[in-house]
Formats: sequence, structure tokens, C-alpha cells
Amino acid sequence: MRLHTVELIHVRVPLRRPFRTAYGDTTHKEALLIRAETDGGVGWGECAAEVAPSYTAEFVDSAWLVLRDHLVPRLQASAWSSYEELDDRLATVRGHPMAKAAVETALLDAHLRERAKSLASYLGATRPTVPVGVVVDLDDHLSETVETAQARAGEGYRRIKVKIMPGRDLDIVRAVRMALGDSVDVWVDANGRYVLADRALRDLDELGLGLIEQPLDPDAWTDHGALARELTTAVCLDESIRSIADARLARHLGAADVVNVKPSRVGGVRAARQIVDECAAAGIGAWVGGLLDLGINRAVNLAVAALDGCNLPGDISATDRYFDRDITEPFVLDRNGSLSVPSAPGIGVEVDAAAVALYTVAQITLR
Ligand code: MG
Repeated sequence: MRLHTVELIHVRVPLRRPFRTAYGDTTHKEALLIRAETDGGVGWGECAAEVAPSYTAEFVDSAWLVLRDHLVPRLQASAWSSYEELDDRLATVRGHPMAKAAVETALLDAHLRERAKSLASYLGATRPTVPVGVVVDLDDHLSETVETAQARAGEGYRRIKVKIMPGRDLDIVRAVRMALGDSVDVWVDANGRYVLADRALRDLDELGLGLIEQPLDPDAWTDHGALARELTTAVCLDESIRSIADARLARHLGAADVVNVKPSRVGGVRAARQIVDECAAAGIGAWVGGLLDLGINRAVNLAVAALDGCNLPGDISATDRYFDRDITEPFVLDRNGSLSVPSAPGIGVEVDAAAVALYTVAQITLR
């Protein structure tokens, strides 16, 4: 395969309402899109890096530079004959998994469209639909959080994940748990804001939660191992898992009962599939998390979530949870709280050029 012209497009898409996490408030989704012209046709990719280096070290401007000056030129220099060869070439740039994942998506999209094969079938996924959950962010008032959680449950989501941080945890989670009863599984996501000694983690353990996600700092491996042994509630790692090596480390240390597999965070869908397989072999639960994704990465995440090893509902909400108008056709929740896995060739959705143009704030052509 050969990579010819690449359009690198920075888009800024308004959210229906601000989204609040431990990292701050977000009113717009910003993302880099890649439109890649290859010898096999055109493919699209989406880089999940956020505006600030908060969730991971990558951010929009760093991804723009590393794609423009390092990753794309290395691929445009000459052809390659396998994805292993592509990995070797991408590995000459250290780190930057989200930028690499975006390139991989665009190339796979072009390649699989040419072969009339869907991404899900390329990965070996067989499920046509996947059950999904939704994230409830931190509202100013406890009552708003509870109302939002009830509204989401009413929409059909199978489980609700509540974002927590020190000082905004027990009361909120207890109230949501009470309001929803046993009909909906409740998870919490701490985004690494606690330390091993925190009393709140033990109190949360009493609430019958489905899991507690990323309680401690991403590099706190041995503390996560100690916590996982102590708590009854399953400990899930998210930010800690940046590669297959991290998944193996988590297994070795007993640091995770569950892993949140984000294809973008681990360098792409092929690495994500490896991690899902590693988890299945180790008896570790796995599910696919989202990052306020646009339609391209929503489609990619659904393909990975359809793998047999992903045995818990993912954070892959319907489009209308976040956007009035996405850059692809919308994803709609069905009556069973599931989303359909795209089955058309490539990533399985079409990019709406008019919507991309509407949201573009910067663009560059790399030849
Ligand atoms: Mg998380």
C-alpha cells in the first residue's frame, strides 16, 4: 500500500451541553481528521487527542505536529506490504498512540473499502449489535446528576457511569444508586484522582457498584494491585493501559479486574484487539470506552466492542447524547439499549463533507 496526499483537518464541533469531568468543562469537541488518498482509494481517520494534555500526554497541537512532520512523511516516503511493516515504520516515532491510531484508521478504511470488507469483520468481530452504557458527568447539584442518570436509564442505557472526584463522590453515587435501584448497573470513574489511602474508596466499595474505574494515578501500578486485592468492587484500568505491554503488566501485578480498551489510546484497533485477547486469556473483563468521539471513532469503537472478548457494555453513546450534527450519519440507540455495529466496507460510515467544512478551523494538505 502507498500513501499519497493527506488532508489534515482540525475541526471544532459544538456539544449539545457542556461536559464536565475531573479534567474540567468542555463545550466543544475538537479533533484532527485525516483524509488519506492511497493507491487503493480514500480513507478517513480521527485523532482522539484532546485540546489539553490532561487525559493523556497527547493534545491536538502535538498531534498536528507529529502527524505533519513525522508520521505522514515517513509513510509517504515509500510503499509497504503488510500491517506489520506499517507498525515497524510507525514505531520509528516513539509514543503518540492517538496520532498513530488516526493514521491506522484512515489506511484501514481505504484498504478495507477496496476489498469490500467491514472493519468489524476484518477484526474478527461477529456481533451485529453491542449493548452500551452512558457517562453522567459532574453537575453542579446532586439533584441534577440524579435526574440526568434517571433520564439516561429511561432512554434505555444498560448501565450508567458516574464521574467522581474527591469531595464529589459518595453522596452523589449513593443518590444515583438509590434512584436507579437494581435495574441499572452503576459504575464510577475517578480519572486517577484518588490515592491508595483514601477512605472514600472503601466507602464506595460498600455501594454494590459494577466497577470503579481508574481510581489512582495511571502510573500507580503496585498501588492499583493492592487496591484490587482489597476491594470487593472490580477495579478497572483506563488511563494506565497505553499498550499491550501495560495490559500484560496489569495481569502480572493483579492490578486490574477489568480493562477499558480505547483503540485510540493504545495506538489503534489492531493493538486494541491484542489487548482484548490478552484480557480474555487472563479472565480480565474488557469493554470499549469513548472519548467524546465523532462518528469516525464511534464506528471504530463499535467494531472493537463487537469482539467476543469485550464482555461488558461500552461507553459508546448514541450521537444525540453529545451532538446535534456529527460529521457522519448519527448512531441511534435501539430499544434494547444497544447500537448497531457498522457492517458496510471500511469503517462503515460515510463522512459528511459539508459538516466537516462547517466545523473546520484549520487545514493543511501534505503531498
Ligand atoms: Mg475513564
